[in-house]
Amino acid sequence: MRLSRYFMPILKENPKEAEIVSHRLMLRTGMVRQQSQGIYSWLPLGKRVLDKVNKIIREEQNRSGAIELLMPTLQSAELWQESGRYDAYGKEMLRIKDRQDRPMLYGPTNEEMVTDIFRSYIKSYKDLPLNLYHIQLKFRDEIRPRFGTMRSREFMMKDAYSFDLTQEGAVQSYNKMFAAYLRTFNRLGLRAIPMRADTGPIGGNLSHEFIILADTGESEVFCHKDFVNFDIPGEDTDFDDIAGLKSIFDKWTSVYAATSEMHDEAAFNAIPEEDRLSARGIEVGHIFYFGTKYSEPMGAKVQGPDGKEHAVHMGSYGIGPTRLVPAIIEASHDENGIIWPASVAPFDVVVINMKAGDLACDEACETVYAALSKAGKDVLYDDRDERAGTKFATADLIGVPVQIIVGPRSIASGEVEVKDRKTGARETMTVEAAINRLA
Ligand code: ATP
Ligand code: MG
Ligand code: MG
Ligand code: MG
Repeated sequence: MRLSRYFMPILKENPKEAEIVSHRLMLRTGMVRQQSQGIYSWLPLGKRVLDKVNKIIREEQNRSGAIELLMPTLQSAELWQESGRYDAYGKEMLRIKDRQDRPMLYGPTNEEMVTDIFRSYIKSYKDLPLNLYHIQLKFRDEIRPRFGTMRSREFMMKDAYSFDLTQEGAVQSYNKMFAAYLRTFNRLGLRAIPMRADTGPIGGNLSHEFIILADTGESEVFCHKDFVNFDIPGEDTDFDDIAGLKSIFDKWTSVYAATSEMHDEAAFNAIPEEDRLSARGIEVGHIFYFGTKYSEPMGAKVQGPDGKEHAVHMGSYGIGPTRLVPAIIEASHDENGIIWPASVAPFDVVVINMKAGDLACDEACETVYAALSKAGKDVLYDDRDERAGTKFATADLIGVPVQIIVGPRSIASGEVEVKDRKTGARETMTVEAAINRLA
């Protein structure tokens, strides 16, 4: 991508409305734009990051055996009347009428709809277990939308729904998602801690929130320091190995971790003082087991091996991609801007032409740009007619992990500078060496 032809509206000034660093940086770098309160457009730079986050989420959901579909944003009120949640959900639900005066709603979550899909097709225990997920916009008319896309009214969610014949089976499905979540957040460059959580209006009794520790987090959390060193399940995790998955769950729930709603002061105080962590955190994921709460009233039943009808045991599993993007920035930035983990960076490398129009500089930049693009890298080429200082500042601000700096003096001896955004370390090398390093 040539920056001169790209759409990346960088703001010169810090936006006044932004209270936290991630919101400020997302606005300054032109990643998002608020269209009305708590409703955002994702501009090209932001969209690139969001896509990379979703790709990782999708890969890990698929690896665990979950199956992707796509359900609509608008739902009929009828389904929600069946479950009893149409009245119970309250003001966070945006209710709409169509031209025939039929009550509709913009889905805040999808338990009812996915249960309807399930009951329409699945009749036998032989088709279980099943886990269906989608990545789709949700709407919740939050009383206090704030911090940009961290708490917006329209937001994206990856929500998965598991169906099992028995509670025991549902717990196994839960453990699969538990391991998949640990892998997902780790690949996003985050350390998420699963904490015992309240189940809220979704209901049920086995539930964990995945929390990123951050001073700007809205949740108050309490946990043991050991979490920092726990191993993340590897790429070779066998999602059919019931015992293996249970041991991952057991390990990650072996020490204390709870949000304020579930906090047990006595249990926390039993931890040696130097190992206690009392902090603030951002909820980036939430998993629930809620048994037959929806399958029973909605008639989602299968025939068991005993020949009888059984309401299926369900769980639901959410992740907020549009909240994860600012959460990653909260965890990874410095005074100059964002520092993207390589896995979600909008570009892998930025080529900075310090003197656009200089023949040698232009040629070297074109060579690097073409070679790295050909090697499948996402390359941003800053070919703008701007001062070098402006380009350095832009590159640091948008947080691309590696910068290749091409200037008239060093290129005279055939060399460029390679700068690591995170450490600031610089190395001088030939054009060819730089290409080989990054391709
Ligand atoms: P919160 O406690 O922050 O209001 P929640 O508990 O209501 O979140 P869940 O119903 O558990 O949210 O939804 C699953 C995930 O969706 C959350 O863990 C979070 O990552 C994301 N999410 C929920 N509400 C929002 C929102 N208003 N803006 C952005 N992401 C959200
Ligand atoms: Mg909420
Ligand atoms: Mg919550
Ligand atoms: Mg939640």
